[in-house]
Order: sequence, then structure tokens, then C-alpha cells
Amino acid sequence: MQQVYNLTFSYAGQWLVDHGVKAIHAKDLYRFLYKDQPLTAPLQKLQDTLKKDTFSIHTKLVSQDGTIKVLFQLEDGYLIETVLMRYSFGNIVCVTTQVGCNIGCSFCASGLLKRQRQITAGEMMMQVKMMDAMLQEEASTSHVTHVVCMGTGEPFDNYDEVIRFTQILTHPHGLAIAPKNITISTAGIVPKIRLFAQEALPVHLAISLHAPTNELRTKIMKINQAFPLEKLMDAVDFYLAKTGRRITFEYILIADLNDQIEHADALATLLGQRDCYVNLIPYNAVMENDYRRPSQAAISAFFDRLMQRGILCTVRKELGHDIASACGQLRAQHQHETQR
Ligand code: SAH
Repeated sequence: MQQVYNLTFSYAGQWLVDHGVKAIHAKDLYRFLYKDQPLTAPLQKLQDTLKKDTFSIHTKLVSQDGTIKVLFQLEDGYLIETVLMRYSFGNIVCVTTQVGCNIGCSFCASGLLKRQRQITAGEMMMQVKMMDAMLQEEASTSHVTHVVCMGTGEPFDNYDEVIRFTQILTHPHGLAIAPKNITISTAGIVPKIRLFAQEALPVHLAISLHAPTNELRTKIMKINQAFPLEKLMDAVDFYLAKTGRRITFEYILIADLNDQIEHADALATLLGQRDCYVNLIPYNAVMENDYRRPSQAAISAFFDRLMQRGILCTVRKELGHDIASACGQLRAQHQHETQR
């Protein structure tokens, strides 16, 4: 894919200078790349270099609720999943940040393929751009309003590209997504949480917690060995103090594993008075393991207990369940089919 999609706005100016155009036309370049504006006169000599780029679409599934899930084929042949979800407050794209993942969480289908390579900032931009274009095809007034780095991969294992991606994504002359509408989700790479706390852009942070004790967390997330809960919560406190922004904790509810009232109590104790909220995610069953989602009654009881204990929480609404919505499922399915 063209390198131009990797350019932050200031580097776009430099890139133009390298190509014999004044830096001041970076605005026109961004508008051409991200706002479908025609090339202005000073950029016309770059016409051949700036041919419109797209990924090829390997598979596209549209759910009854409007969720779109796409398997894009990258230039080197790798397949990545991107999802578009429609909510009343806006349209969210769930971006993939790595081909495969090395974090190795026991419940996650994405990690079955080890990290093959990083996704570049430009390839992340292209995922958002193409989803935005699909919305445009349906209704010319709809745009992508929110972006979450919750597709395949660990964003903080690809830190620099992900930060560059947020810089390009938020630029006023580009797609201009508000920083507060962008969420980066991490399995808990502590040094990167500390680094992220010191970035200039006020992008939202989510942490995949999934268990309230070291014993249980280590069982399902091996990253907890390197960064146990004490270290993780220290980094969380650093982040809260530095940014003043509320943090989200994701907590997958898995039947008979981490869904008992005692787990809710331990979670409430762990989080204490911190400025945070908990996003409860009923587990999305995948064919690769035996984990199951709890009953509705168990989900409600867990939620009620957290609320009683003064912890803000929501239960994630499930979208696109008719089109293999859980992480890594579509690519995994494709792999199964080709292996058969
Ligand atoms: N690596 C990052 C972001 C990608 S996953 C992270 O760990 O946060 C986004 C979220 O989906 C994570 O909270 C992850 O634990 C969760 N997840 C993975 N598999 C799931 C499944 N089958 N059902 C529900 N959530 C899942």
C-alpha cells in the first residue's frame, strides 16, 4: 500500500517537499486522501504517485442489525478482520493492529495465530477509510464517528504505529475523529500504559482485566505473569494521575470461571475508589475452546453486585452475532475451511 497513508500531517509536509511541492499543500494532500477532494493544481504533478488505494475485500458479511464484518486481504496476502458497528450515538470501527497476536490469552481466538507482522498506521487508516466508504455507499450522510483498537492484535505491542495512527485519524484536515471517540484496548503491557499516559492526544484507554485475582488472571492471561495486578494497578494509578481521564476495564464473563458473586466482590475491592468503569462482556463462544457465556441471571447478578458496591458498569450489547462477531472468528473460520 502507498506510504502516504503512513504520514502524519507534519511528515506529509516533508514528504511533499521531498517530491518538489511546498509543505503548505499538506492540507490539500490530506483532503485528497481522507475527504475525497480532487487533487489541487500544485499536487497534480504527483498524480501518478497518488493513485487511489484500497485493500481487496476477501469476504464481507452484513448482519441483520447492520454490523458489517470484512476480511481484507493485504498486499502480502495476509487476511485481517475489521468490523463496523452501528449504535444510536454513532458508527464504530473495530480496527486490527497486528496480523496474529503473541499475548496468548486462553479464551481468545485471535491469538491462535502467532504474530506474523505488524499492521502499519497506514493500514489501520485504510481499514477506517474503507469502512467509512461502505457507510457512504449506503447513506451519504453517515460517517465513522468512533474507532476502537479491539480487533486482532495487541495495540501496545505495536505502540509507535498505533500512536501514529491516532495522530493521522484525529487530524482536522483528515477524517477528524475526536480523540475522546478513540479507544485503545490493551491486555496490560505496563511500561506502555505509563508511556501512553504521557502522550499528548487525549485518547481513551481500556484494559482487559477479566479476573480480579492474580491466581485466576494468570490462568487465563499469561501476560499476568510478567505484569501482575499490583504492577498493573500502579500503572493505572499513574495514568489516572497524569491524564485525569477515566479508565475502562473490560471484564469478559465466562460461565463458572470468573462470573461468581465472590469475583464481583473481589473486583470491586480491587478497583476501589478509582475513576473507572467496568464494561462487562458476556463471553462470545468460539469453536476453538470450551468456554461458555454465563446465564442471563448470572450476568445480571454480577452487574447488580458491582453497582451495589459503587462500581460504574455496563453490559456490552451484542451486535452482529449472526455473522461471527467474536474476535478472530471470521479469519479463524476461513482457516478451518481452507484446512479442511
Ligand atoms: N489485545 C487487546 C485488544 C484486542 S481484544 C486487549 O487484549 O485488550 C478486545 C477485547 O476482546 C479484549 O478485552 C479481549 O480480551 C476480548 N475478547 C477476546 N476474545 C473474546 C471472546 N471470545 N468473547 C468476548 N471477548 C473477547
